[in-house]
Amino acid sequence: MILPSGQSTGWTVTSGEGGDSVTRVYHRCHFCGGEVVEQRVTVDYRWGDTFLVVIRHVPAGVCQVCGEQYLKAEVVKEMEKVAHSQEEAKEVLRIPVRELKVA
Ligand SMILES: [Zn+2]
Repeated sequence: MILPSGQSTGWTVTSGEGGDSVTRVYHRCHFCGGEVVEQRVTVDYRWGDTFLVVIRHVPAGVCQVCGEQYLKAEVVKEMEKVAHSQEEAKEVLRIPVRELKVA
């Protein structure tokens, strides 16, 4: 995924939720030139090895051809705020951690 300039990659975007696809100021896809349309996605926002916050309904530009996702700088800032919020979470997930055993 492509982040606004100078952002470190502290998260991965997992699933699209479709929904309201309002075209905004997104440019064409950097990789395939496809049309980028705004959709709400779910972002796994993590830092370090042990801290993970799932943020839903994040507006992101999604390439309609290859699925690459683009985030705006202000959205990234908002996500950082929400991730560090002291408010009670809407929902708490249990996340199994396993290791791959490769000989
Ligand atoms: Zn694309």
